Amino acid sequence: MIKGYEVVVGLEIHAELNTKTKIYCSCRNSFGLEVNTQVCPICLGMPGTLPTLNEKVVEYAIKMGHALNCSINRICKQDRKNYFYPDLPKSYQISQADIPLCHDGYLDVIMDGGEIKRIGVERIHIEEDAGKLLHSDKFDGSLVDFNRCGVPLIEIVSRPDMRSSAEAKAYLETVRSILKYIDISDCKMQEGSIRCDVNVSVHKPGEPFGTRCEMKNVNSFSAAVRGIDYEANRQIEILEAGGEVVQETRRWDDQKGMSVSMRSKEDAQDYRYFPEPDLLTIVVPEEKVRELKETLPELPNAKIMRYVRDFGLSHSDAAMIVDVVEKSAFFESCIAAGCKSPKLLSNWVLGEISKFMNEGTAISDTKLTPEKLSELIGLIADGKISTAAAKTVFDIIVRENRDIASIIEEKGLAQVSDQTALEAIADSVLAENEKSVSDYKAGKTNALGYLVGQCMKASKGKANPGAMKEIILKKIGG
Ligand SMILES: [Zn+2]
Repeated sequence: MIKGYEVVVGLEIHAELNTKTKIYCSCRNSFGLEVNTQVCPICLGMPGTLPTLNEKVVEYAIKMGHALNCSINRICKQDRKNYFYPDLPKSYQISQADIPLCHDGYLDVIMDGGEIKRIGVERIHIEEDAGKLLHSDKFDGSLVDFNRCGVPLIEIVSRPDMRSSAEAKAYLETVRSILKYIDISDCKMQEGSIRCDVNVSVHKPGEPFGTRCEMKNVNSFSAAVRGIDYEANRQIEILEAGGEVVQETRRWDDQKGMSVSMRSKEDAQDYRYFPEPDLLTIVVPEEKVRELKETLPELPNAKIMRYVRDFGLSHSDAAMIVDVVEKSAFFESCIAAGCKSPKLLSNWVLGEISKFMNEGTAISDTKLTPEKLSELIGLIADGKISTAAAKTVFDIIVRENRDIASIIEEKGLAQVSDQTALEAIADSVLAENEKSVSDYKAGKTNALGYLVGQCMKASKGKANPGAMKEIILKKIGG
């Protein structure tokens, strides 16, 4: 709520599907190849060519429909959306107008505090992507790369159910996570494989919704947050000054941190939609729809809840592990390999493992196995090795396929819990630190921490700190 106004947000997410080939021809669907090499007469829109629908596109879209609790239109059609733009050689885009493949679903989003917000999903439809304009200082004008023409997309249209930029961000993140888990999109925002248009309006609670503006060119989730906040404030300022918000399409400029007007908002009729005459009606057998539902993996939200419930992780730790498919798969493999402490495991996955993954190394690029990490965590949990020593071992087993016991032996990393050895360390430290001992006896309790620290140092980090503390207390009469 800003100055008594409620913000209303709806999102349209375009996700490129990771099928092997394009939606209506057999050209390769792959990002980053040399310009205008993945093209044929069909995706270039040559007269007289006929499109054939790639069945995988329908399957992928239905999977997403199931994941977002949608009803599926087993029988539906495709339509031409007519408009001119240089990246669209046919001058129309094949999309779906009045009968989308999936409709009327919802997504439960877990907010930071753990509370659940349900966002309605109006529809999911399939369509083709357009090409890409290239601008450069090296030449006058613009060039067009048609490789992206005919790359399959799904458009996921939410209901205007979000009431803040934070809710919009949580929704976007959850949708992205689902796309990754059901493995139908690469989800690389920097390559444009997910893009979103943001609809924002403001109104006073109890009053009808205000006029909405659509914002395009939102290229990251954090840009969506900034864009929504900016746009809500812009509209509130207009209303507070006695003006009226104009329905229009605006372009978000993330560098300047502002949106600028592009054009007045077009209506559906401006596109003169009509049924695509070159394609057959889509008919999906009932068994197929059911089969696609049954093959869905455990979805990210269910996973997060399970990690919190079964392993005692905090919601935010669980969410951070689940956010990366490889981390979550490795976490679960370690549990399956008998890892004793899921909490310690979560710390290692989010700490040391995330550290090398953030530098671009996948777990599968290393020598680390679930069995090795579980063994190492077991040694920490049993007090056989300190966390600092475990990190030394970890750095080695990431690089080399070696036996943990032999590394501990070779480096002398075993934690000393032997009473006699610990007592000897305590005696020498106490003898050298008489002042701290008398401080402690005079009631300065933090002298104890200092003494334990000195013992740890004397043992080169190998003493068991808990056992060390007990011995010192016994000796100085705590
Ligand atoms: Zn083609």
